[in-house]
Amino acid sequence: MKTKLIIGGVAILVVGAAIGAWATYSFAQNLIMENLPIGTASLDEKDSYIKAAPDLNPLQPKQLKVPSSKAKNVILLIGDGMSISQISAYRLINGGPNSRISVDKFPYSGIVLTHSENGIVTDSASSATAYSTGFKTNNTYLGLDANKNTLENLTETLDRSGYISSLLATSEITHATPAAFVAHVDLRWKTDEISSQMVNSNIVTFLGGGRHFFLPEEMGGKREDGRNLLQEVSDSHVLLKTKEEMTNFDLNLPGRVFGLFADEHIRNIETPDNHVFEPSLTDMLEFSVNRSDYFIDNGCAGFFIMAEGSQVDWAGHVNSLDYLNNEMQDFDSAVDWALNYAIENSDTLVVVTADHETGGLLIEPANPVDYSGDKVKFSFNTAVGRGTHTGVPVPVYAYGPGAENFTGTLDNTDIYRAILASLETDSNSGSCIN
Ligand SMILES: [Zn+2]
Repeated sequence: MKTKLIIGGVAILVVGAAIGAWATYSFAQNLIMENLPIGTASLDEKDSYIKAAPDLNPLQPKQLKVPSSKAKNVILLIGDGMSISQISAYRLINGGPNSRISVDKFPYSGIVLTHSENGIVTDSASSATAYSTGFKTNNTYLGLDANKNTLENLTETLDRSGYISSLLATSEITHATPAAFVAHVDLRWKTDEISSQMVNSNIVTFLGGGRHFFLPEEMGGKREDGRNLLQEVSDSHVLLKTKEEMTNFDLNLPGRVFGLFADEHIRNIETPDNHVFEPSLTDMLEFSVNRSDYFIDNGCAGFFIMAEGSQVDWAGHVNSLDYLNNEMQDFDSAVDWALNYAIENSDTLVVVTADHETGGLLIEPANPVDYSGDKVKFSFNTAVGRGTHTGVPVPVYAYGPGAENFTGTLDNTDIYRAILASLETDSNSGSCIN
């Protein structure tokens, strides 16, 4: 009887303690909730701190290893505005936390610091110039150093060594990232100059949008110099205007290719009728690789392809998660294609990275005082509707000969050096383009 009473008493005490603990927890939770500015604060009211970043040290180039074997080809994929949060959002939304997307399959990865010569937060021009020349430069500059001296870019160096290069983008082809790999101008918005320099270059394949940047204003285009560069391109290059023309193109025919598949960017929501004529980034990548084989069969040493998922950045600028997801899907599929190509072709290095993060994308619990459950809140934490670039580092992923150099912490200028270190270059061999 006594034992039963003791057990009963202990049970009551345990239950009582549990109820007490729950009540205390619940009270604390309510107190936190009541004091959280949920739904009432704007981004302008968030805690923010402005600090100066001291410029105490010169740039320290990463010590690179000599790769055990050299690459013949390089595919560089740049997700504009894509950092870890964009990659994580894409992974979570489409397959959940345990799923794996294409970049997760790469054996080597690292962290890239993206600041420009004149700013902690880079623009696309400066960051792409770091990737294409190995030099920091001012924001808005393409292929020039901070003193506006012309820098030889990767595609020019490789051309002298008998390699061919292709530039692909889902934006207009004159946009900052592809432009940095071919042009030399002090303002990324000088598209008349950029497109003219593109036509005069030795790049064998340009694929993307941007027909309006090759047509004068009188013809409905955006050129201010009155020049009909589209006509000139059709004289000097093979001009492709639709995905079908690209797919049906006889790869045995000679000539450099200009594929311009939209008036401005590809998948423009204002021109839905044109979408059926537009290739995906994967379609463009596959074509440029196959097209490169033609030149290699005719004596070129290997290929370099830069493929940009341009509009990941634009989704961040306009704060649209659905737009981001669609663009990440297009980019992820191209990365997957490139990785599979490199698995089958062991002489190909694939590097995937970004130029900067855009939008300040945050991933939080849907309920800020309850971390359990599968609901996640995604929010853009730079200006609403016109988000900016941020200064957080971006990831880099690599597979193939020389991939071991893309690890640890790198400066964006190190990416250029690591790509070049993976290739056998001989500047005396000369261009293989007639
Ligand atoms: Zn960018």
